[in-house]
Amino acid sequence: MSNVRIGIVGAAGRMGRTLIREISAADGCAVSGGTEASGHGDLGKDLGVLAGLEPLGLALGDDSAALFDASDVVVDFTVPAASMTHLKLAVEHQTALVLGTTGLSADEQKQVVTASKKATVVQAANFSLGVNLLLGLSEQVSGLLNPDFDIEIVEMHHRHKVDAPSGTALALGEAAARGRGVKLSDVADRGRDGLPGARKRGDIGFAALRGGNVVGDHTVIFAADNERIELTHKAGDRAIFARGAVTAAQWSTGKPAGLYSMMDVLGFNA
Ligand code: NAD
Repeated sequence: MSNVRIGIVGAAGRMGRTLIREISAADGCAVSGGTEASGHGDLGKDLGVLAGLEPLGLALGDDSAALFDASDVVVDFTVPAASMTHLKLAVEHQTALVLGTTGLSADEQKQVVTASKKATVVQAANFSLGVNLLLGLSEQVSGLLNPDFDIEIVEMHHRHKVDAPSGTALALGEAAARGRGVKLSDVADRGRDGLPGARKRGDIGFAALRGGNVVGDHTVIFAADNERIELTHKAGDRAIFARGAVTAAQWSTGKPAGLYSMMDVLGFNA
């Protein structure tokens, strides 16, 4: 079977460069090209060189329509506004899209759902195996414990991260809410400052820490009187997300249009 052609939008970003390395190292797939926003300082540079590898003979471009045309699947770790354009291109070109960008508004998420009726979209707030296991465990534990256990979700990321709480923290909140049979939007407490008052029974609280080059730490705390359970995942290198995204990209080819998650890719929803 020929190699799956994987395109990368945002190829000069932190995740983009990691993806170039992971796709180049993986069996059964190849980088088909990479784009950046118009005016980006690295346009024209070789993708391999950008990722610290030998030259790949592919220059970083800004024509994302051409990239979708030349790819079986495109991987998107960019910014929400750019991802909305990429969703339209996925539909137009019938190219699968692996979507890792976080911080989408409710309206942008609706656009993901609409596009996925006509194109194959794999979306995950976190593409690592460990975090997807943590999602399943959080749902299970919260379903077993009653609201005497207060649920708090703490995350820490590097100083450059622009959205908070992280998409993964929110996905963990969704999982914990699902376990309790409630809607996260009804119970989320997304920031305390000043005199917010006593904690409401049943709320799911979030705290976001930023600093240094922390790739991504997440802890789900279940705190009752005199006992506490903490489920923690720590990412040591963003290669774990890129590896998961490459697995998702290979899995997506030939799948019918629809919105899939990393839980589908890993077979956790089977
Ligand atoms: P980054 O800022 O290093 O990279 C984003 C890149 O996208 C930049 O190089 C930017 O120039 C580029 N870009 C912006 N507009 C573009 C356009 N129109 N076309 C092409 N490229 C464009 O950020 P990052 O750390 O790589 O993270 C990117 C996103 O991925 C964030 O939302 C982050 O939260 C998310 N993320 C998700 C996961 C996951 O597993 N789902 C893991 C890590 C990061």
